[in-house]
Amino acid sequence: MAGAQVMSPSHLPSNRYPSAHMALVKVIPLGGAGEIGKNCTVVEQGDDLIVVDVGLAFPHEEHYGVDIVIPDFTYLLENKDRLKAIVLTHAHEDHVGALSFLLPQVSCPVYCTPFTAALVQSKLEERIHMKEVTIEVVQPGDTVNVGELSVEFVRVTHSIPETSAIAIRTVHGIVLFTADFKFDFTPVDGKLSNLARLAELGDEGVVIMLCDSTNIDRPGWGPSESRVTDGLRRVVKDATGRVLVTMFASNIHRMQQAIDVAIENGRKVAATGRRMETTIDIARRMGYLVVPEDCYIRLDDIGKYSASQLLILTTGSQGEPMAALSQMSRGEYGRLKIVEGDTIIYSARPIPGNEAVIWRTINRLFKLGAIVVTDADSPIHVSGHAYQEEIKMMVNLVRPFYFAPVHGEPRHQHISAKMAVTMGWPQHRVFRLANGDVLCIDAENAFVDEPVQSGEVLVDQHGNAAVSGEVLAERTALGHDGVVVVSMAIDTESGEFAARPEIEVRGFSGPDDAVLDALDDLGDVFTKIGPNDIRDTEKVEKAVTESVRRSISRHCQQRPVVVAVVLEV
Ligand SMILES: [Zn+2]
Ligand SMILES: [Zn+2]
Repeated sequence: MAGAQVMSPSHLPSNRYPSAHMALVKVIPLGGAGEIGKNCTVVEQGDDLIVVDVGLAFPHEEHYGVDIVIPDFTYLLENKDRLKAIVLTHAHEDHVGALSFLLPQVSCPVYCTPFTAALVQSKLEERIHMKEVTIEVVQPGDTVNVGELSVEFVRVTHSIPETSAIAIRTVHGIVLFTADFKFDFTPVDGKLSNLARLAELGDEGVVIMLCDSTNIDRPGWGPSESRVTDGLRRVVKDATGRVLVTMFASNIHRMQQAIDVAIENGRKVAATGRRMETTIDIARRMGYLVVPEDCYIRLDDIGKYSASQLLILTTGSQGEPMAALSQMSRGEYGRLKIVEGDTIIYSARPIPGNEAVIWRTINRLFKLGAIVVTDADSPIHVSGHAYQEEIKMMVNLVRPFYFAPVHGEPRHQHISAKMAVTMGWPQHRVFRLANGDVLCIDAENAFVDEPVQSGEVLVDQHGNAAVSGEVLAERTALGHDGVVVVSMAIDTESGEFAARPEIEVRGFSGPDDAVLDALDDLGDVFTKIGPNDIRDTEKVEKAVTESVRRSISRHCQQRPVVVAVVLEV
């Protein structure tokens, strides 16, 4: 950073972890570097390759018909003989959501903590055969050996139980993934981040730390998850009708707070949405969620209680069209209708890109007579990610030799890098990695080598990874300017056009002249095509398509998709 004169602080590791080993350690993000979503990073040394997290991302608005986005696994598949383990930090979709695509193509165990294992298992069972999948359950604090490497799970606080930072011991020191974390000193489940262990790992020698940078642009310390109880309490106490609370289906701590507040106010709790019901079942069974038996009722039984005796947990905080709350807002959810007097609490932060659809859902709910409370009205949501001072604390505890902010967009990585420099880390020891980058660490240096193949694979609603960039470009063109279909018939015996071509348009709003002109111009095209070429359907279609595109562009700026259909008669 220009002009920043900082004393090299005494905590800054000045020497590398002592290592005379010649092996290269490589850190290769295949997702999650320079973006928030589809986290997936490879750590390798010699014949051992470990993947940390296999997550998905949600589509952007221009991803027409795309359900989810997953990392390009080409590099992993090319090296699957060396792939020894998949390690999961926690059960959020951006860390585990692409497992069902990778697991059928590789054979190595998946290591994770019990709660992550239970959620992952229940999701995988819906999609793939579990017979070939080995899930090795570990406890926070455990270390497992993977080839020449070892992997230690260190508890950190986040918005889902049993999140673990991952410490991978290599010949050149520890590669530490902070995972998604915050330093919450009053977590809902009382289970604190293992600060002492993080500091010990720092003493042992962390060669590089890959750090959550989602909230690096928020100064200070993030509020504790426990703060939400007060916000919920205030809203629920004032509500006279039913209360619905929407949140991520995996946010067990938030559910616990909503349930506690419901009980305080003499309300029974029900849940909508298959994902939420399943998660509640798993969390109750494993003891992560405490709900007295007589407090939890079936959704179909809510009719037996008055409005002021009910609190309903629901999915749909991100405006997902098929989620229960979205269906309710359209009056399409058979099991529950929104009525005047309902209060709906939005206890989640929009994933960037979802804002517009969330506001549309909220507006529809208001129209139905409900009152919708967001965290602008009351503190009913806090982030699960560290604010800047918490990230500084992590850096100070771990004192990595190299620092690489991930789980953030380039703007987050930029602020993180600046922060590290102000803390005394020299510029050349801070890496702003991009997906596909190969960060090589040897006994003395670290450098970024030629990238490996990486990118996004687009998956449709049916789970097929079949939406290519080309398909997407066509969908965009269709959405913007519609389609022009030219059909013509060719007499294959005489090698002549059998009838005048016809043009049909759908969703095209250009002037009629453009279409008429395009038809006229086709006459020229046909005379230019010799009797031999006319039987080459592909050639004819290409010439026709090009001609129609040219004619239309003379009249207007529009670029509709042009389809030529040749019938042989
Ligand atoms: Zn995440
Ligand atoms: Zn997370």
